[in-house]
Amino acid sequence: MNHYVYEFAEGNREMADLLGGKGAGLAEMTRLGLPVPPGFTVTTRACRAFLTTGTEPPELGTEVARALAALERTAGRGLGRTDDPLLLSVRSGGRYCMPGMMETILDIGLCDATVTGLAKATGQERLAWDSYRRLVQMFGQTVMGVDSGLFERTITGLKAARGATEDNELATVDLILLTEKFKAIIHRESGERFPQDPVDQLHRAIRAVFASWNGERARIHRRGDHIPDDLGTAVTIQAMVFGNLGVNSGTGVAFTRDPATGERGLYGDYLPDAQGEDVVSGVRDAVPLAELKRLAPRSYIELSDHLRTLERHYQDLCDVEFTLERGKLWILQTRIGKRTAEAAFRIAYDLLDEGLIDRREALSRVNGAHLTRLLFPRFATDADNAPLATGIAASPGAAVGAVVFDSATAVRRAAAGEPAVLVRKETTPDDLPGMIAAQAVLTTRGGRTSHAAAVARGMGRVCVCGAASLVVDQEGRRLTTGSGVLVHEGDTVSVDGTAGTVHLGALPLAASDVGRALETGEQSGPLSEAVLRALSHADVVRRLDVRANADTPEDAARARRLGAQGIGLCRTEHMFLGERKALIEAMILADGESAREEALADLLPPQRSDFTAILAAMDGLPVTIRLLDPPLHEFLPDRTELAVRVATATPPDPRDVRLLAAVERMHERNAMPGMRGVRLALAVPGLVAVQVRAIAEAVAQRMRDGGSPRAEIMIPLVGAVEELRLVRAEAEQVLAQVAAETGQAVRCPIGTMIELPRAALTAGRIARHADFFSFGTNGLTRTTWGLSRDDAEASSFPGCPDTGLFTGSPFETLDEEGVGRLVTIAVREGRAAKAHLTMGVCGEHGGEPASVHFFHRAGIDYVSCSPFRVPSARLEAGRAALAAT
Ligand code: PEP
Ligand code: MG
Repeated sequence: MNHYVYEFAEGNREMADLLGGKGAGLAEMTRLGLPVPPGFTVTTRACRAFLTTGTEPPELGTEVARALAALERTAGRGLGRTDDPLLLSVRSGGRYCMPGMMETILDIGLCDATVTGLAKATGQERLAWDSYRRLVQMFGQTVMGVDSGLFERTITGLKAARGATEDNELATVDLILLTEKFKAIIHRESGERFPQDPVDQLHRAIRAVFASWNGERARIHRRGDHIPDDLGTAVTIQAMVFGNLGVNSGTGVAFTRDPATGERGLYGDYLPDAQGEDVVSGVRDAVPLAELKRLAPRSYIELSDHLRTLERHYQDLCDVEFTLERGKLWILQTRIGKRTAEAAFRIAYDLLDEGLIDRREALSRVNGAHLTRLLFPRFATDADNAPLATGIAASPGAAVGAVVFDSATAVRRAAAGEPAVLVRKETTPDDLPGMIAAQAVLTTRGGRTSHAAAVARGMGRVCVCGAASLVVDQEGRRLTTGSGVLVHEGDTVSVDGTAGTVHLGALPLAASDVGRALETGEQSGPLSEAVLRALSHADVVRRLDVRANADTPEDAARARRLGAQGIGLCRTEHMFLGERKALIEAMILADGESAREEALADLLPPQRSDFTAILAAMDGLPVTIRLLDPPLHEFLPDRTELAVRVATATPPDPRDVRLLAAVERMHERNAMPGMRGVRLALAVPGLVAVQVRAIAEAVAQRMRDGGSPRAEIMIPLVGAVEELRLVRAEAEQVLAQVAAETGQAVRCPIGTMIELPRAALTAGRIARHADFFSFGTNGLTRTTWGLSRDDAEASSFPGCPDTGLFTGSPFETLDEEGVGRLVTIAVREGRAAKAHLTMGVCGEHGGEPASVHFFHRAGIDYVSCSPFRVPSARLEAGRAALAAT
């Protein structure tokens, strides 16, 4: 029994942890009887052993030899045989798909002794030498660490000498010459000769693939996709087949449905007389798969049958890489196909209707991140703006940004807050940082399965590729359109990834169909129908309620249309931005009791009317209104500016002098957890009273108007139960007063935020004086980590996510181990003190998918998030409930 190597026939789809997605897929297809070139997989366990010890496990050599012998028997060819040599591909493939992020080495087995044998066996001398020079180049670069630029420059030099522009214009003698030059470069640079022993080549290639798990590209990708660093990659070794042996050969990628829209029907790209790498790299333009029907009808039918088999077997969208070698079809790889958000919904609900999966499975196939993406706007369809160019609609959505021509510029602009559109001839994995930073990616070459398209779709980035009429002038930093229009770096363009068009200038954006369908309940097509089905299922099964964070009647109304079951956080300080800021300033500056009372009285009317309107918008549903919790510095003038003004004016403005004194008095080194919330309430007598009065009067007004107002009063930043007790007593007094004055039975639950570790740790005591808890996980994260969100996300901070210390920002996804533990303690001790205490979450995490699952498990009653994230939270709450059963 082998430990580190599995022949394809020995594995299956369940073994992706060990064989990688690719190895498991090949094993499964082999079992299904699909035409897979023979091969075997070296496990991720072997890779992990290699990465920890620096050497391969001792048994590996024998196990590989045994599997290789079996492969040779099946293929009927031998590695290193000089007449009809077997060639091997050596490919990386971990548990999770990381396209193009690790190494692949093709044509292993070619050497001086076998190259002519290959020429004879295929009848293609040029192909044999081209493969050999590619192997020497790839091996030199990947395995022997030689600078790739040296090879590239040699090719460029030779092409110039021959007056050739493309590689394929070079003659066989040129390729022989290049091979020799490449071998010389390797010898000169590494002190070693290119290995002529194919078995040695194979072992070194396997080690290089292992090592590529820790390459920079792979590490960046893993961080972005939250893939653990310690999984390692498997290595798949497979007999090579050739798609470049003439007219009845070719290669392609096929999907069982359209991965961009989810529409039923075979779909993909085909490249006649070419090798697989040409399709994936997008270096040559492919034709639609339908062309294969015309070029090789029998193979098309056979391929369709295999795809149908795979989809029924996997019960999901599958994609395959295939090669036609002189009329014989080979399937080289399959996997569950990546898809856009739109396709995810359509495919899941189509598969449900086709009886392949059940409702529960359909809901597990879609997620909140997909749904949020679908709510983003598209360009208004009636926009009258002829496209600059049309390419392939590779990843849908609409984006506007400034043209940039390289990854670094995209990153720089994004850091400065300027949206960018990354324009490249074609992208490579080195462009990844720029693709992440840009709003959209536009390429002039490559099909729907090119690197640019696949990566952009995976990231939800808008992408148009293969816009062949555009000519990119990288050095001149401009592009020219088919009609001669020049677009310079920095010019604004609009990219429509749904239509595949690029437009000059900023097109107006229109709301998405799905967003409209969600708000109105009207289905406008199969996509919105699928979304509504998923949501209604989630709504039935979820235990968590979903509320919204909203401070205006408009937001409240929108949130309600999107399914919010109330407001979990109405930030009253947000009502004093803009012109009303002066009211807070006046309160801070007020000298003496009467001035303060006057300033406070001015706060009453605007708040009362805001509350009345919000309660009306959320009539019958709970509205949690938080008492003032302003980071005071945000409401005061800048300290330095003010000091300069006072120092330079003669005489200085007396108001400035008073302001400066107040600013100095309130200045705090770290203002975020400082004089806010309940601390401010206790420092400014009368503040609680005026806010509670505004709330209570709004409630009374709504009752008089026949509404069902359900205001809840929330006290922020409580760290000690005494703070809550004091403020609560004052609030209750005001509520009673307003009830007496208005004759209305004004009753509002009074609760507290849990946003300080001390509050979480003393939750049992606090619970006795609270009607509800609402976890302010922003504050709780900040104070648990001793780190502000801004600092955590600044790339200069050593603990920031980019350094790889953390897999993601704790401000985005709740840190279960630390902050989550505080939440768990507070839930347990709070409920022990008061069994039916309502527990909500109003920090940003309330709308983040993974965090929603945690809150479900932690026994929280509701999450509250920005209105646009409400549908996603509903969906995830449903998925969390299903996952828990
Ligand atoms: C919180 O701390 O989670 C919270 C909602 O408060 P803030 O308004 O400070 O984000
Ligand atoms: Mg807070």
